[in-house]
Amino acid sequence: MRNEDTDEEVTCPICGVVDDMCAHIVASIDRTFSETHAGEFYERETEFRALVEEAFLPHLQKGVKMDWGGGILNELWSEAVANYSAEYEEVALDGFCFYQLVDELFTEAGAIEPAGPIIDDGPPGMSSAVSLYYSEDPKQIVDDAYSRLVEMLKRQ
Ligand SMILES: [Zn+2]
Repeated sequence: MRNEDTDEEVTCPICGVVDDMCAHIVASIDRTFSETHAGEFYERETEFRALVEEAFLPHLQKGVKMDWGGGILNELWSEAVANYSAEYEEVALDGFCFYQLVDELFTEAGAIEPAGPIIDDGPPGMSSAVSLYYSEDPKQIVDDAYSRLVEMLKRQ
């Protein structure tokens, strides 16, 4: 992975290891293909998704208008409303909005982001925009982000 502007390889701001290969990774997220590749968050992403889905579902079932305090959570909600089918009762979380939310949570929790834009060169025509988050204590950042999300969803 490299900084697209400087062409320099991305290294961990704490230990200097390249890419997402060290223990300081909170999350390595491919923003182009909307998927998580590594880090503490890789193990716990389903918990975050379940939290949002469980908060959204009862309101989707009732078909009520909701305001989650503005911002990205409202956008994620609008997408879920647009994609909701009463037949399947499934909450569809838009990948782009979901990772915007995750970005906000990690930033507020104090994760360190190397200078970007970061790009992962795949095969020709397949390069991805990547978000990398680091911390001395990735578990604490993910725990903190999770608590923040719980609070955001409680506003209702
Ligand atoms: Zn490191």
